[in-house]
Amino acid sequence: MEQMISGHTRLAALFAKPARHSISPAMHNLSFAEEKIDAIYLAFDVEPENLATSIESIRTLDLLGVNLSMPHKMAAVPLVDELSPAASLIGAINTIVNQNGHLIGHNTDGIGFMRALAAIEVSIIGETITVIGAGGAATAIISQAALDGVKKIQVFNRKDDFYPVIEVKLQEIAQQTGCQISLQDLDDQLALANALAQSQLLVNATGVGMKPNENQSPLKDNSLLRETLAVYDVIYNPRETKLLQDAKAVGAKTANGLSMLLYQGAAAFELWTGKQMPVKKVQALIEML
Ligand code: NAP
Repeated sequence: MEQMISGHTRLAALFAKPARHSISPAMHNLSFAEEKIDAIYLAFDVEPENLATSIESIRTLDLLGVNLSMPHKMAAVPLVDELSPAASLIGAINTIVNQNGHLIGHNTDGIGFMRALAAIEVSIIGETITVIGAGGAATAIISQAALDGVKKIQVFNRKDDFYPVIEVKLQEIAQQTGCQISLQDLDDQLALANALAQSQLLVNATGVGMKPNENQSPLKDNSLLRETLAVYDVIYNPRETKLLQDAKAVGAKTANGLSMLLYQGAAAFELWTGKQMPVKKVQALIEML
């Protein structure tokens, strides 16, 4: 991949802390080269106290736009001029588009999740799903699924200090979208069994099962899995979590979080350039990383 940098070359970037490990630069630089777009993508470690000036630099240096990752997704919300409907509902942004100095915040994580399901031919519109976890990834997934017309979302989380906060957030998403959303204790095995019996899809939106804890699963009872319950795990390290192995063993459709990562990037690329990301080529690249 060879890219000529000139005075016309535009910059897109990732603002995160840490940012250096990210695979977004590889995804976007390949896509710019393939689509013959005169732009490059760099990753910047941005400290929280420097977020406001970094976002201001999108205007002053006329960047194409940026991606935001931890810990900036929520803090960046009041620093942009406009929010997409999904970003406003989620309360966090992972993409900023620079329209002649007017900064628009988007959240493409949920869009990435919905496209990842389409890629494995799982349709949840008008259906019931169960989500384990209610943090940043879960909120993006739940909000986009609700906006896109999922009928019922049953959320399970540990009953800790965060629980009442999630309850309020989920009620707000339900009110604004008309989707039925419930929150229950992850320790309530009977409620989880009932929820899964009604569901077409189970989503793990926690880090349980991630390296170095590959032997853990957010689901204690494997007998709740079945062939007609698709399972999506937001984790991509390892590529096949214990939960996905167990779901595969009963013949269920499964996918890992690499596809959500791919398609959230594809959605950001489209917002910046108006062109489709060459997803097959990018997928082949990131699967090797
Ligand atoms: P987060 O905001 O910190 O939320 C973590 C969620 O997991 C919370 O609901 C938390 O519950 C729950 N949790 C944590 N440890 C748990 C445990 N031992 N048992 C049960 N629940 C537990 O984190 P996040 O940003 O949503 O990230 C969650 C996962 O998604 C991470 O693995 C991250 O790498 C992945 N992710 C993937 C993508 C992608 O594109 N594939 C994008 C974003 C994130 P409590 O409230 O009880 O702590």
